Amino acid sequence: MKNPLIIANWKMKLSHQEALDLAKKISKSAYRYKDSEVVLCPSFIDIIDVSGMIKDTGISLGAQDCFWEERGAFTGEISPLFLQQIGVKYIIIGHSERRAISEESEEMVHKKVRLILTLDTTPVLCVGETFEERQEGLKDVVLRRQIYSALNGLWFNKSDRIVIAYEPVWMIGSGQDADPEEITHSHKVIRQLLYDLFPDQVVDNQIKIIYGGSVDPENVSRYLSQNSVNGVLVGASSLDAVQFSSIVAAAIKC
Ligand code: PEP
Repeated sequence: MKNPLIIANWKMKLSHQEALDLAKKISKSAYRYKDSEVVLCPSFIDIIDVSGMIKDTGISLGAQDCFWEERGAFTGEISPLFLQQIGVKYIIIGHSERRAISEESEEMVHKKVRLILTLDTTPVLCVGETFEERQEGLKDVVLRRQIYSALNGLWFNKSDRIVIAYEPVWMIGSGQDADPEEITHSHKVIRQLLYDLFPDQVVDNQIKIIYGGSVDPENVSRYLSQNSVNGVLVGASSLDAVQFSSIVAAAIKC
């Protein structure tokens, strides 16, 4: 596997001071992360400070969401262009919490991904089935629908990159371990659709598929030892510097 991609999603879990303390601890360990691509996604109020703290460490800056326009009368929204200008390299889009709680539609997800790709920034597109959808045997259908609606009609330039995070909704925050073979199956379904939508070289070289859902220092190696898994998206376990560093260390070993 190439350098694993490890994205920390801090959600809305840390106060400003807590976020700065965590960024400080993580950036002190950054010298150990060089065989990986580590991305921190703080909340918007912390993003500029965290950007300064991780400068020159090799850690990349990410955001948890953005709007689908660059600029204008959109009160309360955050422009992906302005994020890019302060050094944001990755933007999480379509997280299941936004789809469920903020009623983010597939059309909104598509518009965000489309704009981000024009801004030399990498969308991290989250997809995944709910527990009920899985029980009804709809998992593959849901994955195909989410990927198709987000990406259909998009054009990739040579420098464009996209990350797809397969996150079964029922695994997020559950503390459970996923079955690595089930992850591989879902990644295959995703990759197959990508081959239908885009030229092979785009899928092989410009798209990474990662896994998210209760990733921790113990289970991360099992996931990353699957050939299809290029990295992980980490929520709860990214909020503790020691746990997060253990995840990165285990990922590098894979
Ligand atoms: C997430 O919300 O993207 C996530 C993976 O969270 P957790 O690791 O806490 O399950």
